This record gives sequence, C-alpha cells and structure tokens, in this order.
Amino acid sequence: EAKRGGRNTYRHYTAGMQLYSLDRMSLETDLRLAIERNEFELYYQPQIALDSGKVVGKEALIRWHHPHRGLLTPIHFIEIAEETGLIVAIGQWVIREACRQHQHWLQAGFQPMRISVNISAMQFYQSNFCDMVETIIHDTGINPGYLEFELTESMFMQDADTVVKTLRRLHGLGIKLAIDDFGTGYSNLSYLRKFPIDRLKVDQSFIKGIEHEPINVEIVKTIAALARSMSLELVAEGVETDVELHWAESSGCTFVQGYHFSQPLPAEKFTRWVTEYKYQADQYALVDM
Ligand code: C2E
Ligand code: MG
Ligand code: MG
Ligand code: MG
Repeated sequence: EAKRGGRNTYRHYTAGMQLYSLDRMSLETDLRLAIERNEFELYYQPQIALDSGKVVGKEALIRWHHPHRGLLTPIHFIEIAEETGLIVAIGQWVIREACRQHQHWLQAGFQPMRISVNISAMQFYQSNFCDMVETIIHDTGINPGYLEFELTESMFMQDADTVVKTLRRLHGLGIKLAIDDFGTGYSNLSYLRKFPIDRLKVDQSFIKGIEHEPINVEIVKTIAALARSMSLELVAEGVETDVELHWAESSGCTFVQGYHFSQPLPAEKFTRWVTEYKYQADQYALVDM
C-alpha cells in the first residue's frame, strides 16, 4: 500500500516536474525575445524624505508585459534572467530607460530627483560594466549625481579588489551607491568601511509589522546608529501603514518608501501622483501658515 502510494506520488511528481520545465523553457524563450519586442516597462516608486515630507527620489522597478501571461513582476522572471545571463542585456536596457525617462521628466519641467536602479550581481561583474554605464550617461546626458545604483550585500563577498575598483569608478562618475535589502545578507560589515557606499535600505522584513516585533525595532535602531556613525543615509523599505511609518521614523530612518505612499507606477501615473502629492503638500503648508 505504502509502495503504491509512493509510486503514485512519484508519477505525479515527474508529471509536475515536466510541466514545470516546459513552462520554464517557454518563459525562457519568450524572455530572449522580450527586449526586441519592447515588452519591458519600468515602474517608479516614490521615496520621501521625512524631514521635509518631500518626494526626493524614485526607484525604477521592471515589469514585463508578457504576450499571453499579462503583466509580470520580477519574481516571475528575474531568476531565469540571471541563470541564463539574459540579465546583462535586460539590466542594460533598464539603466538606459531609467536615464532616458529621468531626462524626459527634466525636459517636461519637473524638479530633478534621484533615480535608483537595481543592479544584478552578474551585471555588476561584467568587465565592461563601467564603460557601458559611461556610454549611457554620455548618450542620455543625465547628470550622474541623480543616478543611484542599488546593490546587494552578496556582491561584496566576491573578489574584493575587482569590486572595489568597480565601485570607485562608478562613484568617481558621481553615481550614488546604495545597499538594498540591508540586514538580510552578509554579516561581516567591514565592507562598509572599504567601499564608497552612500545609503542603506533597511530590508522590508524588518519594517513589516514592526510594532509587534520589539526585536525589529532594536535592529532598525542599531542599523540607524551604524548609518549615522558612517554618514550614510537610511531608507526604510516596505512602509505600508501609519504605525510602520511612525516606527521607521522614530527608529532613525530618514527616507521612506512603500505602499503607504504609493505602489510602483508606470511613468505617466507616477507623474500624476507626484503632481498631486506636491499639491497636497502645498495646501498643507498654506493651512499651517
Ligand atoms: P527591491 O529592489 O528590494 O524592491 C522592492 C520591492 O518591494 C518591489 O517589488 C516593490 O514593488 C515592493 N514594495 C515596495 N513597497 C512595498 C510595500 O509597502 N509592501 C510590500 N509588500 N512590497 C513593497 P518588485 O517590483 O516586485 O521587485 C522585486 C525585486 O526584483 C526587487 O526588490 C529587486 O531586487 C528586483 N528588481 C526589480 N526591478 C529590477 C531591475 O530592473 N533589475 C534587477 N536586477 N532587479 C530588479
Ligand atoms: Mg531595490
Ligand atoms: Mg529591497
Ligand atoms: Mg531585492
């Protein structure tokens, strides 16, 4: 009986695996064509400075308009893109598109604000990465002081010399460097001293339901103390509620990002959101006076 059950389970399992790999193969095929078919789009999520209440930046987050599957978020395809190496071309598209859109907003008369772009490890390790970035800066005319790269702690575990060289060169161009999902990765923090880092983004797992997790309050406060002592800016990610905003602020975060303010939005909706947000802030200021 157990044996039969086992065999059945096995059969189901193989069928499932086959389906999974077929599904994955078709996604991979589609992903190879997605750039030339122009199926990617960047969404933007605002970042707010808590001292002024102003929108001071935005993070670019990739979306894929799949021909049959609809709008896909990165969880559905970034891993495949990394495993196949396609992330190098996709990541290059992302940087160029973010810079193009930034310039477009400037030309439309908007105040400049920082634009943050996520960088994958494989992309970062390409020997021509810095040259590629310089070309995009040159082609689009973006002031690199408004460009920020979000890196992950895991990147700093690799060959330190190469990493240092790349980071110094990017920083030398004026690009800001941030550590994404801070607190979830590498525990040896000495890299923070070695590398020219500008900001830490506290991982959203520490912010979610922070009011119920005294230990998370302590963790965020500790990260804030570290950030202050090293003159790093601190962003809280994933702020969804008033209470989380309150705790993020009182624990020492100086910038916030999350659904409480806005979900990531397509460029046009983002423009509208910023305009309305400013409008509200102005009204509030008038009432205050
Ligand atoms: P991330 O860089 O840590 O981005 C934050 C993620 O949290 C985004 O998910 C964002 O939509 C989501 N988020 C923002 N505010 C909230 C909130 O209040 N609550 C919750 N629950 N979630 C919130 P998204 O857009 O699905 O991106 C997931 C990850 O995919 C990103 O995490 C980043 O690691 C990666 N990614 C996104 N775009 C790119 C890209 O252009 N290139 C690369 N290499 N990776 C990307
Ligand atoms: Mg990010
Ligand atoms: Mg993050
Ligand atoms: Mg991430």
